[in-house]
Amino acid sequence: MADIEIRTKGSAGRITLNRPDALNALTREMCGEIKSALDAWQTDPAVAHVLIDAAGERAFCAGGDIAEMYRTGTADDYTYGRQFWAEEYRLNAQIFNYPKPIISFLQGFTMGGGVGVGCHGTHRIVGASSRIAMPECGIGLVPDVGGSLMLALAPGRLGEYLALTSARMDAADAIYAGFADLNIDEALWPDLIARLESGAAPDILTEAATPPGPSALQAQQAQIDRHFGGERLSDIRTSLSHEPDAFTRDAEKRMARNSPLSMACAIDIIHRLRGPSISMAKALDLEYRFTFRAMEHGDFLEGIRAAIIDKDRTPHWQFAKGDVPAVTVSKMLMPLGKDALELEEAVMSKGKIGFIGLGNMGAPMAQNLARAGYDVIGFDTVVETVPDLTIAASAAAAVAGADVVITMLPNGAILRQVVDDTLQHVKPGALLLDCSTVDVESARAVAAQAEAAGMLYVDAPVSGGIGGAAAGTLTFMAGGSAKAFAAAEPLFEIMGQKAVHCGEAGAGQAAKICNNMILGATMIATCEAFALADKLGLDRQKMFDVVSTSSGYSWSMNAYCPAPGVGPQSPADNGYVPGFAAELMLKDLGLSQQAAEAVNADTPMGAQALALYRTFVEEEDGAGQDFSAMLPRFAARERS
Ligand code: NAD
Repeated sequence: MADIEIRTKGSAGRITLNRPDALNALTREMCGEIKSALDAWQTDPAVAHVLIDAAGERAFCAGGDIAEMYRTGTADDYTYGRQFWAEEYRLNAQIFNYPKPIISFLQGFTMGGGVGVGCHGTHRIVGASSRIAMPECGIGLVPDVGGSLMLALAPGRLGEYLALTSARMDAADAIYAGFADLNIDEALWPDLIARLESGAAPDILTEAATPPGPSALQAQQAQIDRHFGGERLSDIRTSLSHEPDAFTRDAEKRMARNSPLSMACAIDIIHRLRGPSISMAKALDLEYRFTFRAMEHGDFLEGIRAAIIDKDRTPHWQFAKGDVPAVTVSKMLMPLGKDALELEEAVMSKGKIGFIGLGNMGAPMAQNLARAGYDVIGFDTVVETVPDLTIAASAAAAVAGADVVITMLPNGAILRQVVDDTLQHVKPGALLLDCSTVDVESARAVAAQAEAAGMLYVDAPVSGGIGGAAAGTLTFMAGGSAKAFAAAEPLFEIMGQKAVHCGEAGAGQAAKICNNMILGATMIATCEAFALADKLGLDRQKMFDVVSTSSGYSWSMNAYCPAPGVGPQSPADNGYVPGFAAELMLKDLGLSQQAAEAVNADTPMGAQALALYRTFVEEEDGAGQDFSAMLPRFAARERS
């Protein structure tokens, strides 16, 4: 029987790890075969998604096959190990950046190399038997295969705790820590796999998932943060020893088994990653600096000897007594120069975008980004599928690991709630780009919150409607720092035709509400003029032909004509299904009057437009209609 089975079945690329007697440990050959298959499927239109599972009940994959590394390493040949690690890390990056959904089914143990194959895809499924861990410090390595990225992104100091104690996570813990997405009864897995092979979309997984119950790690978070927040290994040890209780004793016992040098380096890697430029590429680069030196200067060969070869479980670690000098940690993690890990550009996507709010505007904007090569993970409380996007089970899952988070939501209160709920899951240094139309105060509050958390923030409401969103011709009015605006520019270029940097945070919203105050007034003026024209016996088409090329022209007339069958396609041609909902216009006019009040500006037309849209939405039949449905309203009325 082959160690790995690779085939396509229906619309799925299928990979099954098949070394159950060795807990499906990854060999170099298996990594190579997975990589070749992913290369081929990446552009194969017949493959919609990739499913990775494993034979046997005990493990998805308990790690990498390190016997050959030991044999060559003890003969002073470090090349084999270095090449294996580099190939494996390139595979991990490929899985992380893959342009199609990768779904993994993680029964039993998923550890080390197994995490690299099973925990970087888009849908990571766990069940009652799942046990996920990064126990590398126990064999003289550091958490690698991209695991350091997830550790750096885990809540609070959980990453340090998991790295230093090798603690095993059950399904609830793994989801809490960001190593898994969905808890599904393992009895359902074979049927779900069969349905995914037959063309079902990955959404069926979300439907089959159930809450995993409470996470023990989450319950311990306060203790973890208190004791594992230290700058160095010695700080953490001191904190643990000063407060003896069941938690600290257990942590000390676990840490006593591990290589001090590995633990000190793991802490340093996690801390370095938490800076502004966190990325998978950076995580793998740092990990490789350690593993490249692990046989020659680290504890790796001794760790393998004690655990696997002699099985005496009494490794003789360096720095077994006393502290690990900072200079030794630095030396292990120095850049490698010409030996540095090279990731293949071709397999890297342009970056990961979490997109929250996939309504009339958000969905086409997100699709344009996905088509331009971004890995877009969307979330909406109502919308369940959007072509080209991966839909996450929660907003938190959509933003986890993203380089950019984009919001396109109905109002400031919802925006604030979404940011409150997700900010802790967003990686530091990421760009938060809010394209919704919200009040200036909410924009400034969210900007301050995001910046305090180490992120870049731009408020960039749009103009151009659903047509502009679909065509990628929106105008963005942006507020934020020059640095944040520069970071957002490549995205504006894809979603729009123009972006104006209006000033500091909130300036984009200020421009937007002024623009929409004009829009509300001109739409009303256009609609009442059509209703008057009707009563004067003027044909609507003739009215359009004249006004659209005369001084009465406006966007409302020329691009979004409220009269059905006249002018370019608009919601009027579709029974006034929004488009831009009348409620949203009411919201924007309310924002403009709120702002005018705050700065004592006289805006009588805006106030009148607000009053009319309020009556239309709240007392007439305007709710649920496009804002251009003012035309049938006026047409049906008489002068009062
Ligand atoms: P929409 O109502 O179609 O979309 C908003 C989406 O947000 C909905 O799908 C809704 O389910 C989702 N949502 C609500 N709460 C959520 C939450 N907590 N988490 C995740 N998703 C949530 O509205 P739209 O027309 O797409 O407008 C979006 C924003 O863009 C608004 O602020 C609007 O003022 C602005 N805007 C709209 C237009 C337009 O022509 N439609 C033009 C310019 C600006």
